[in-house]
Amino acid sequence: MNKKNKAEILKILNLNKRFGSLEVLRDVTLSVAEGEVVSVIGPSGSGKSTLLRCINFLEKSQSGEIYIGGNAIERKEKVVNKMRQNVGMVFQHFNLFPHKTVLQNVIEGPIQVKGVPKKDAVTQAEEILRNVGLSDKTHVYPAMLSGGQKQRVAIARTLAMEPGIILFDEPTSALDPELVGEVLNVIRDLAREGMTMLIVTHEMGFAREVSDRIVFMDEGRIVEEGPPEEIFTTPKNNRTRIFLGKFL
Ligand code: ADP
Ligand code: MG
Repeated sequence: MNKKNKAEILKILNLNKRFGSLEVLRDVTLSVAEGEVVSVIGPSGSGKSTLLRCINFLEKSQSGEIYIGGNAIERKEKVVNKMRQNVGMVFQHFNLFPHKTVLQNVIEGPIQVKGVPKKDAVTQAEEILRNVGLSDKTHVYPAMLSGGQKQRVAIARTLAMEPGIILFDEPTSALDPELVGEVLNVIRDLAREGMTMLIVTHEMGFAREVSDRIVFMDEGRIVEEGPPEEIFTTPKNNRTRIFLGKFL
């Protein structure tokens, strides 16, 4: 599919982020087009999570610009709350409300943040839960779920907000190996449906299969980016080669 001519949903220009004297992001420039799936790979500590947190304004950057838009890139940092609604985020540790049922977790955002009537929110949540294979867990509390099921609820909760883009921060890293597949399957389905996603992952096979583009980060910089076939078979940069060598 040619996604080149599609609108940019996310555009980051020359982003710089420091924690004290530690430079964590250095001149990061990155765009994601509508319907595109971009995976970010790189060693631990290279700034991947910080990048996602900056996009979602959980962290404030020192300089640079972040634009999030639908058809046009229209919103700047002033309207952070509106923008956040358009950016879904799925974390390594699911962050579900423990005292709410699966259904209550999923309808909370639409009702509280978007003002969706409860009846409509429930109808929508039931459909989403069906799509992620959790219809039978609708009225269960998170403590009763496996890690894979919890993460699928977290994805359902994000989908209920109907974001323009979803950011995933190592969504399967906290899972037992046998539970990784069910979560990757849900993300794979979303990719097929054309959801725009920026995915930080160590699942190289999955990244290669599902992504339109791979971004390799090291020491706070985007060192190399390109189509999966190129990055995984003929990386240009030596640091990319060394990093990927660890997965061979
Ligand atoms: P990655 O997700 O690629 O492993 P991170 O974005 O989590 O990397 O971290 C990048 C660097 O920033 C690391 O050196 C980390 O220790 C540092 N860092 C992350 N968050 C904070 C913070 N809140 N305060 C200070 N340093 C931080
Ligand atoms: Mg991280």
